[in-house]
Amino acid sequence: VLAYLDDQRLFRQLAYCNGKWVNGDADTPVMNPATGEILGYTASLSAAQVNQTIDDAQAAFHLWRAESVETRAERLMQWHDLVMDNQHDLAHLMVLEQGKTLREAEGEIAYGASFIRWFAEEAKRVYGDTMPSHIPNAHLATLREPIGVAALITPWNFPSAMITRKAAAALAIGCSVIVKPAEETPFSALALAELAERAGIPAGVFNVIMGDAPMVSTQLCQSDKVKAMSFTGSTRVGRLLLEQSAHTVKKCAMELGGNAPFIVLPDMDIQQAARAAIDAKFQTSGQDCLAANKILVPRDKYQAFVDAFAALMDELEVGNGLLPSTDIGPLISSRAVDKAQALVDDAIAKGATVIGGKLNPNLGENFFAPTLVTKVTPDMLVYQEETFCPVAVVIAYDDLDQAIAMGNDTEYGLAAYVYGNDIRDIWRCLRGLEVGMVSVNSVKMTGHPIPFGGVKQSGLGREGSRYGIDEFSEIKYYCLGGL
Ligand code: ADP
Repeated sequence: VLAYLDDQRLFRQLAYCNGKWVNGDADTPVMNPATGEILGYTASLSAAQVNQTIDDAQAAFHLWRAESVETRAERLMQWHDLVMDNQHDLAHLMVLEQGKTLREAEGEIAYGASFIRWFAEEAKRVYGDTMPSHIPNAHLATLREPIGVAALITPWNFPSAMITRKAAAALAIGCSVIVKPAEETPFSALALAELAERAGIPAGVFNVIMGDAPMVSTQLCQSDKVKAMSFTGSTRVGRLLLEQSAHTVKKCAMELGGNAPFIVLPDMDIQQAARAAIDAKFQTSGQDCLAANKILVPRDKYQAFVDAFAALMDELEVGNGLLPSTDIGPLISSRAVDKAQALVDDAIAKGATVIGGKLNPNLGENFFAPTLVTKVTPDMLVYQEETFCPVAVVIAYDDLDQAIAMGNDTEYGLAAYVYGNDIRDIWRCLRGLEVGMVSVNSVKMTGHPIPFGGVKQSGLGREGSRYGIDEFSEIKYYCLGGL
């Protein structure tokens, strides 16, 4: 790892609790998914250490919330600048532990940093309301207050930005946070802690803990001192955390799975649609909750689309994310490869046709060739599930209502893509799709100004935008009577 870094102190293997780097009970190895090599170890904390961190974060919260918003914003801006100054090192650390391409990793660091700047600015403009009084001789108004200690549990597909998108909102409004990164990608989180410390974010305000995930989560959920639970990950784990958080009635923000439809409208240019669908499908090797999961194409253009998509897919280079020629890195684990293969096998067994992309046989066991599945029917797992791998699914539709119905035929409701020109068709999709985000004629949809989040079982709450602060704050109403 150290050979790739300009600043070797960004490679941290200990947990960061209350401003100290601490050892745990045991060490957990972290693998490079591209090579299978062990990159390093992280400290696995005990339940007592987790609880101590919660107590310290609670104490730090009272000091941090009492700072002026200007001071908090300055600390955050410094953190932002340090993240961008170290973009090269942070991106390399991410490629090593996550596998994505260096280009994608650099993009994620900039994307993640943009939330820090956004919320540093946004926190200065969090206003209350005054209401005309229905009570004689009274003044009615609201304040917005930080909720308290926030637990942030984050996934391995975006190891840096899923932390900053939550933490920046929480810190800006005056909360302290305890981050529990995914065990696959702790080093990106720990490097953020190192930079937060250098930015002068006080001890106990930004903590990064690791350990057995169910144990750590149980401690966080059961603690009455933890007031908010913000999670990004699978719907399965999200449900578990909601259940566990019920006991202490925490405010929960959940960014869960997606099953994004990509609707090609009848008047869309097929080459352009295929190019966009490739981009919307294969980013982060398809391990993205925004990935285009079901590509829906008018029946009379179906074959032309499949041919165009297959030709573009064939150009994609699969390999180690550190090589500039690589378009698609490895999957996170061999378990993810087995799951991808099981989806394809299920589709073939049920009558699908599969077109495989290129894969150099010398690559390690975590690589999976980009794959196109056609002749898909609703009984196949690739139709029903979030694939979370580089397997593209193209389905023909006869009329737009059917396309929208197929797009909605899932428990998820995160995002959708619509490609075409006719404004009436676009509007029908916009209104008909049961999702939190619709992107028309653009693969890129996310960023600091927009409310990111889903409906149905894709989650609760929104991240980024002016709404992102809601998850970490409470409205306090007051009535000044007898005036
Ligand atoms: P994936 O299946 O894509 O790895 P998960 O939802 O399992 O996604 O993981 C996201 C986060 O949830 C990670 O930080 C992981 O450690 C955590 N996690 C996984 N299993 C559990 C669990 N049983 N209880 C609490 N947290 C968990």
